[in-house]
Amino acid sequence: MDAEQLRENAHKMVDFIADYYKNIETFPVLSQVEPGYLQKLLPDSAPMQPESLQAVLQEVESAILPGVTHWQSPDYFAYFPSNSSVAGFLGEMLSAGINMVGFSWITSPAATELEMIVLDWLANLLNLPQHFLSKGPGGGAIQGTASEALLVVLLASRDKVLRQVGKDALRRLVVYGSDQTHSSLQKACQIAGVHPENLRLLRTERCNEYALSPESLTDAISHDVASGLIPLFLCATVGTTSSTAVDPLLALGKITKRYGIWFHVDAAYAGSACICPEYRHHLNGIEEADSFNMNCHKWFLTNFDCSALWIKDRNALIQSLSTNPEYLKNKASQGSTVIDYKDWQIPLGRRFRSLKLWMVLRLYGVENLQSYIRNHIKLAQHFEHLVAQDSRFEIVATRTFSLVCFRLLPSNKTEEYVNKLNHDLLDAVNSSGKIFISHTVLSGKYILRFVVGAPLTEERHVIAAWKLFQEAASSLLENS
Ligand SMILES: *Cc1c(COP(=O)(O)O)cnc(C)c1O
Repeated sequence: MDAEQLRENAHKMVDFIADYYKNIETFPVLSQVEPGYLQKLLPDSAPMQPESLQAVLQEVESAILPGVTHWQSPDYFAYFPSNSSVAGFLGEMLSAGINMVGFSWITSPAATELEMIVLDWLANLLNLPQHFLSKGPGGGAIQGTASEALLVVLLASRDKVLRQVGKDALRRLVVYGSDQTHSSLQKACQIAGVHPENLRLLRTERCNEYALSPESLTDAISHDVASGLIPLFLCATVGTTSSTAVDPLLALGKITKRYGIWFHVDAAYAGSACICPEYRHHLNGIEEADSFNMNCHKWFLTNFDCSALWIKDRNALIQSLSTNPEYLKNKASQGSTVIDYKDWQIPLGRRFRSLKLWMVLRLYGVENLQSYIRNHIKLAQHFEHLVAQDSRFEIVATRTFSLVCFRLLPSNKTEEYVNKLNHDLLDAVNSSGKIFISHTVLSGKYILRFVVGAPLTEERHVIAAWKLFQEAASSLLENS
């Protein structure tokens, strides 16, 4: 690592990346390559001798970028956003520069302490209950993804109950969610050894906006208890992946209290909106939760990856995940005066991810972050109005944040035909390279999901996207 070589090359790389952003609208948003394309372009083995950065960057342009789907394009409206920003980028760069591995406090005290401080800041911004702050028995930790956050709290809850009832009870533990809960719950259950028949994904209804009904939870729990099973864990969602449904936290939380069930709230995407006072009510009832998660790398300008997890009782997590080998022993850890984040996560090693979240909060400030969110929601609202004005289309679920769920709905056609038509519409707009959207299925209907959330998206992009939908719809309807 030669400092002058770094300076020279990193300046070139920054120029390259800045130009990438400058030209980002010229690329097809969804990569149009075929599987295996890269093997045909690159040599079979690594070079024996060093090559120049210039040669590598040329190949990035000719071979790599064609195989990139441009998540930062202002015309990206698929899945959920994965924001980058100047502040997030700078934090990521500094983290790469320092490149420490912060598993224990002693391995870089600043990494642990900054993480505690910024997660307390963010918890206060979201008006989370005091028991999630690092000063008490709880606290926050940055995980890689919402899936990891969910897995570690499920493990903590499992072990806490098994300590009380004995390890043989594993087969009797039951986990609850809804049919809209993210698939990471199923994966976490598979890893945690929850019996496949003991995952209850309770049915939601359109008339209920696809939110989990407290009655159906109570019914399922009563039934399980009567069958000799042990209710363990509920994952509620604020902003489901398909349609951004919001589960009623307060009512669900009361039920979990009554039965001693661990209550986790997944707000991976929509948590960001709750920094705005007018959206905070979606978290009402969060005081009942044992753990809460939000992805700063989705809609909070923090480059991937940065998933914030808060837990009410950190000991539950530590009892599941801590190890204490001789080669990691040190005075601070033995004295129990510090947090060792290795005991809050699956890997040992961890990056200095709090730097980028800290940079985002400091370089933008809360007011800018709030207007950032509000602007996207306003653009989504605008798109929703445009859709509603065209009688050939239908809005399928009430818009709550920046996702609009809609479909093309010609009259007098079978559901099967309409599903195929919307599938074709999705293919048509995505293969144009002009925008990228994704889909879902709700109540058997194939639905188009249009999410506003890329940092560069402006009103003109939303309007152009809508024109594209209209044109593609006209041509599909004419040819059918
Ligand atoms: C995106 C998302 C997840 C999964 O996020 P990862 O961080 O990729 O694991 C889970 N739950 C919800 C509600 C999401 O929107």
